[in-house]
Amino acid sequence: MPAVSVDDLSILPRVPVPDAMVARHRPVKTLTTAPSGFEGEGFPVRRAFAGAALEDLDPFIHLDQMGEVEYAPGEPKGTPWHPHRGFETVTYMLDGVFEHGDSNGGGGVITNGDTQWMTAGAGILHIERPPEWLVASGGLFHGFQLWVNLPAAQKMAAPRYQDIRASQVALLSSHDGGTLVRVIAGEVAGHAGPGSTYTPMTLLHLTLAPGTSITLPWRADYNALGYVLAGRGTVGHEGRPARMGQLAAFGPGNAITFTADRAQEQRAPTMDVLVLGGRPIREPIAWMGPFVMNTRDEIYQAISDYQAGRMGQIPAVHAAPTTLQEANQPDGGQA
Ligand code: MN
Repeated sequence: MPAVSVDDLSILPRVPVPDAMVARHRPVKTLTTAPSGFEGEGFPVRRAFAGAALEDLDPFIHLDQMGEVEYAPGEPKGTPWHPHRGFETVTYMLDGVFEHGDSNGGGGVITNGDTQWMTAGAGILHIERPPEWLVASGGLFHGFQLWVNLPAAQKMAAPRYQDIRASQVALLSSHDGGTLVRVIAGEVAGHAGPGSTYTPMTLLHLTLAPGTSITLPWRADYNALGYVLAGRGTVGHEGRPARMGQLAAFGPGNAITFTADRAQEQRAPTMDVLVLGGRPIREPIAWMGPFVMNTRDEIYQAISDYQAGRMGQIPAVHAAPTTLQEANQPDGGQA
C-alpha cells in the first residue's frame, strides 16, 4: 500500500492528544461489514456503506473500495461511459493507475496516493478505467471512490475537477509517532489538506503501526465515519474490534480513536483507516443510479436531460477502427 509513505514520522507535525478535560469520545454507534461485488465491466468492489443508516452517512452517500486486486495481463476492468448529476465523486488511488475521460474533453491519470475530485453538479458523462498499458501488463489495483452529496442550492453547479497529487497531501503524525495521518481534504488540529469542497468535510487516510493508537480531535458538528481499508484493530475509545472491510459510524462527541492490533497479517502489516466526516446536509434524497437529487421529479428531469444529450455526448475516439474486421484484431486495428 504505497499511497504516500514516510520513513521517519518524527519529522512531521504532531496531532496533539485531545485534552482529557474537554474530550468527549464519540462512541461507535454502528459497525457494518461491506459486502463484496463487481462494478461496471467487472472490477471487484466492497460497498463500504451498505447497512449503515443514511442519516449517519450524511453528507456522504456512497463509498466503494476498489480492489485490492492483483490483475493478470489483459484482465483490468473499468466502467463504460455513464452520467452523473447532483453530487461529487472523490477517487483516491492507493496502488495502481486509474484513467478518466469526460464528455467535456477533460480527463487525467491518477496513481499511487493521488486523488481526483469531480463535481458532477448539473451533469457530465465520464468513463473510468485502468490505462491500456496496465490492462496489457496486469498489476496491483487498489483505491476507493466516495460520493459526497451536494445541497439543493449547488446540485446544478457547473462541473469541475481538482487533481490532487500525492505530494500535496498534508502529512502529520500521532503524538507518539506511530500513526501517519494524510489529510486529503479539510483539516486536523489546524493542519489543512488540499481538497476544496462545496460541502464542508474532512477526509483522512491513517496508517497505524502494529500496537499503536491515535485519538483525533473531530468537529462536533461533523458526522464521523471510519472505514478499515486494511489490517485489524479496534475503533472507538471503547475498543470495538474491527477489521478490513468494516465501517464504524460514530455517535456525538469531539474525539475519535483508532487502535491497531499488535499482530497483523503479513500481507497487510499495518492497519489503514479512511476517516471521514462532514457537515450533514439534512435534505430529502431522491436517488436513482448515477443521479442524486432532492425530489423524484428532479430524477425524471435528470433522466430526460441525459437521454436528450444535455449532459454531453460520448466523444469520438481518435483513430478508432473503421471495419468490424479491424476492430476484432487484438490490437484494435491500430497497428
Ligand atoms: Mn462515475
